[in-house]
Formats: sequence, C-alpha cells, structure tokens
Amino acid sequence: MRKPLLLLALAAALLPACRAAPRAGTLVQVSTIDALLVGVYDGSMSCRELVRRGDFGIGTFERLDGEMIVLGGEVFQVKADGKVYRPSPDTRTPFAAVCAFEPGSSFEFEGPVDFEGLKRLLDGVLPNKNLFYAIRIDGAFARMKTRSVPAQQKPYPPLAEVTKHQPVFRMENVAGTIVGLRCPPFVKGVGVPGCHLHFLSADRSRGGHVLDFSLGRGTCAVDRCRRFVLLLPGGDGAFGRADLGRDRGEELERVEK
Ligand SMILES: [Zn+2]
Repeated sequence: MRKPLLLLALAAALLPACRAAPRAGTLVQVSTIDALLVGVYDGSMSCRELVRRGDFGIGTFERLDGEMIVLGGEVFQVKADGKVYRPSPDTRTPFAAVCAFEPGSSFEFEGPVDFEGLKRLLDGVLPNKNLFYAIRIDGAFARMKTRSVPAQQKPYPPLAEVTKHQPVFRMENVAGTIVGLRCPPFVKGVGVPGCHLHFLSADRSRGGHVLDFSLGRGTCAVDRCRRFVLLLPGGDGAFGRADLGRDRGEELERVEK
C-alpha cells in the first residue's frame, strides 16, 4: 500500500518543477522596470523559483540589496561593498529577467572594444532590433567599471535617488563574464530597452551593473528570445498601488548610467 502513496508524493513533488521548466527561446521577467524606478523593492519571487525559469540573467534583490547575476543556474549578489555573495534560495527579487541560455550564435572579439563599441558590434550581428537577446561575453577586460546599490529601508526612495549615491567599482586587467540582455525599444516602461549588462569576475569575487569597460579579447555568445513572459507581483503590495502610467524614460536613462 505504501508504493502508490510514495509515487503520488513523488509526482506531487515533481509537478511544480515540470510546470516551471524553462522553455528555450523565452525571456522570463519578474515585475517591471518602472515599478523598480518608483521604489517597489519588495521581492515577489524567490531565487529558488527564479532559477527554475532560467539559468542565465540579471536583476536585483529584495530591498534593492545589490546587483544580481544568474550564471550557470547559480545566483550571485554583488552588494554595495563590491563583494560577491551567494544569496539563500529564499532571498526574493523585485525585478529580474532570466532565460534558459542556449546560444544560437557566437563570435570572437579582437579588442579593444568599449560599451559603445559593443553596442555597434551587436547592431551589426543582430540586425533584428525588435527581438530579445541574452548576451554572454567571456573575456579579458583591460578595464571594467561597475556599480552596485545599497539595501534600502522603508519608506523606499525612488531608484534615481538611490543611484545618486551609488558605489562605483573600477577594475583593471580582470577576466570575467558579462551577462546581459538587449531588449527592443517597445519594452519601454516594462523592461530596459537596449543593452543592460552585469559583470562577474572569473574568480567570482567582483562584479556589478556595467557602466563601461574595455575588452581586449573575448567571445560573445547570443541566445535569441522570441518569447517574452512577464510575471507580475500579485497580492495587495506596493506594486498594485504604484503609479505606472507616466513616461519614466529619462529617469531610466539616468539610473542606468
Ligand atoms: Zn543592472
């Protein structure tokens, strides 16, 4: 009599995982960038749940506690002290985007290439401006400039206030990986149009939200995502009360740079 019960328990345990199994070519995003801009920093999805949706991506953490890098299914947290932490699977995110990374194309770099140069390069190799792309660059960086953000207390200030005092980190001759996205212009208000890149050093000790860099030699791998899934925070939380009707394009521009 025990076996059917055991099987049932097993099926029940497996079902949620199957349901959330990542689908190739799908970018899954938690909440919207404008919600983050107005200070909705309460997490709505755990890291455990997030990596079930994708093994590659970027985001931030509950209370805006640093920059998130998801690489190889592992979650890394670059806090305001510039150090890299491994958050508990229960740690929640208010904003993140992940995919099951399966690069369809890749190319080699012969640098030096900076952020602007990379954008031009990507425009050349990814002429379809209206798709989502997950971008992985492994290389040796002569310079890497990143930032992080400090954890906030309620009542949460808008993101543009927080980034006025953002800690900036400058690295030299550092090997590592850029984990990033290029999103189409029409995601304005929902996601970050254009290139949004985070960095993690090869020794997993440094990283952050990329402001600029100079890349010597590297490899760029790209996964094209034709599906975009948006998972919005439910419940009666701050997301439901946020004013998300205004154009916050300029605010986003300031916050990203
Ligand atoms: Zn970022």
